[in-house]
Amino acid sequence: MKFEIGGNNYTLLHLESAKPCGECKACCTAIGIVELGKPNYKRCEHLCKSGCAIYNSKPASCTEYQCWYTAGLVDDRPDKIGLIVDFQLSPLPGAIRIWEVWSGASETKRGKALIKKLCEKYDCDVWLATKEWSTNLKTGYVVRTPSAVVLPPTFDQDQVKFDAAMPNVAG
Ligand code: SF4
Ligand code: SF4
Repeated sequence: MKFEIGGNNYTLLHLESAKPCGECKACCTAIGIVELGKPNYKRCEHLCKSGCAIYNSKPASCTEYQCWYTAGLVDDRPDKIGLIVDFQLSPLPGAIRIWEVWSGASETKRGKALIKKLCEKYDCDVWLATKEWSTNLKTGYVVRTPSAVVLPPTFDQDQVKFDAAMPNVAG
């Protein structure tokens, strides 16, 4: 499936990871998992020292989820910068989401630089989510961060892949 945002062409397939997660487990707390009834910003009960205690049977939302670090679209690993970047397709034309992993991460020099880069580079809505508030950085519209994932961060198996034509903010 192809679509366009502000002149950028997207092809959605299943993503192949450009970079491994390494020791990062940030999304296992910040992002809700519909199948587990896990709200946003609640540590997953299956998170363990070695990673995921149910790795081989984890829900599709976990298997299919890919942040922009693993996609190779941003340089900063979420557990290092304190920000997870992903893309919410629905409703079209979609939106970039930036999730604060810890409070204040969006206020650091590095955090601000990444957010500025994303806002400048992409002609679509960019949402910054903290534990309490979600702000549309393009419009200034602020809502309470939902406790549950309202719109799943993952898509059908044959959808999710960003085309090479999509601008890369890495580097
Ligand atoms: S936030 Fe990204 S890098 Fe970190 S564990 Fe999740 S998918 Fe992997
Ligand atoms: S089930 Fe595993 S991969 Fe999914 S959120 Fe929990 S710990 Fe992370």
